[in-house]
Amino acid sequence: MHHFQYRGGELYAEDVPVSTLVAAYGTPLYIYSAATLRRHFAAFDSAFDGLPHLTCFSVKANSNLAVLRTLGAMGAGVDIVSGGELYRALAAGIDPAKIVYSGVGKRGNEIEEALNAGILMFNVESMGELERISRIAARLGKNANVSLRINPNVDPKTHPYISTGLKKNKFGLDMETSLAAYARAMELPGVTPVGIDCHIGSQLTSIEPFLEALDKILIFREKLVAMGISPRYLDLGGGLGIQYNEEEPPHPREFGQALTKALGDLPLTLVLEPGRVIVGNAGILVTEVVYTKKTPSKDFVIVDAAMNDLIRPSLYDSYHAISEVRPAERDTLNVDVVGPICESGDFLARDRELPAVAPGEYLAVYSAGAYGFTMSSNYNSRPRAAEVLVDGDTVTLARRRETYEDLVALER
Ligand SMILES: *Cc1c(COP(=O)(O)O)cnc(C)c1O
Repeated sequence: MHHFQYRGGELYAEDVPVSTLVAAYGTPLYIYSAATLRRHFAAFDSAFDGLPHLTCFSVKANSNLAVLRTLGAMGAGVDIVSGGELYRALAAGIDPAKIVYSGVGKRGNEIEEALNAGILMFNVESMGELERISRIAARLGKNANVSLRINPNVDPKTHPYISTGLKKNKFGLDMETSLAAYARAMELPGVTPVGIDCHIGSQLTSIEPFLEALDKILIFREKLVAMGISPRYLDLGGGLGIQYNEEEPPHPREFGQALTKALGDLPLTLVLEPGRVIVGNAGILVTEVVYTKKTPSKDFVIVDAAMNDLIRPSLYDSYHAISEVRPAERDTLNVDVVGPICESGDFLARDRELPAVAPGEYLAVYSAGAYGFTMSSNYNSRPRAAEVLVDGDTVTLARRRETYEDLVALER
């Protein structure tokens, strides 16, 4: 459910016509709906009302300050994976006591910055990282709360690039090594083991893999308790999927009920790191049709958004619904919707039935709020798109469009 709907024959973002936003800010344009963000956050967070819990939005899904502020105002914490994301979270006023830090390659300066900020905990992914956090914390005279990220070897049944909990993946530690790492964490200065972490993948459309991972983790927890460690936090990561096309992901309520049942009254605070499920369907990408072109084998709709703006179709072969901003009665054609970039992999949709649109019209690409702008680049020296946040009839330019000057500003 989202707040991009047709009224009187044209697409609106909440109470604002998309055509008005395009006239003011140009294309390609990312448009986010604050009401949708709030609705999704509330639906997710309240699903865990039966448990002590903390919902930490995954910043890498959408790191715009206006988005982070909107969620922060609802009490959200965040999951970060870099010093840059820490900087953004703090700039957006997120409470450091609600920040968890994940990722396999945290550098020394990033660890130091997180310690100085006073974050809630580090999700540690290797023995080397544990040792390094200990060294830095001891030097600063600080304590680092740590959870070890367990790789439970569970198949999330999603795209291979976003599966993270299989033993062949680079993430986390296998159970055996994790036990040794907890033992080590007990001896090391500057670190306190406070939790267990896992994140098995993204765009999961079933609850089963989460429960399978949780089972393994609860058995693992027993072993920790036997070692004299009672983890306070259980971080199950993110990964709940959304509907892009015909998927039928479980509602957060169902997810919440299943976890509440599985955790019973264990003395644990559940940490969740949802990204896509909060922001995915809270954003659209609007693009202008530049040309249409018929070749002997295909019809192409060439638009002004490209793989540098939204890489998901090229990278994951993912589906994004596309429709006209101002629909009209006309025939449909089977088309590829492609961008201007010099790569055959530059497409937003392939073999798609679309009305026969004409140059100058606008198309909305749906479900673009997660891993859209955050994965964008300047490839082909294309200035990155603008982002706007709509809240009712209020529009905030959340990020201005980049200029040609921006493209070369750091070069000499
Ligand atoms: C990417 C990521 C998430 C968010 O995943 P979604 O599928 O967007 O919910 C959460 N935790 C970690 C560690 C991640 O890498």
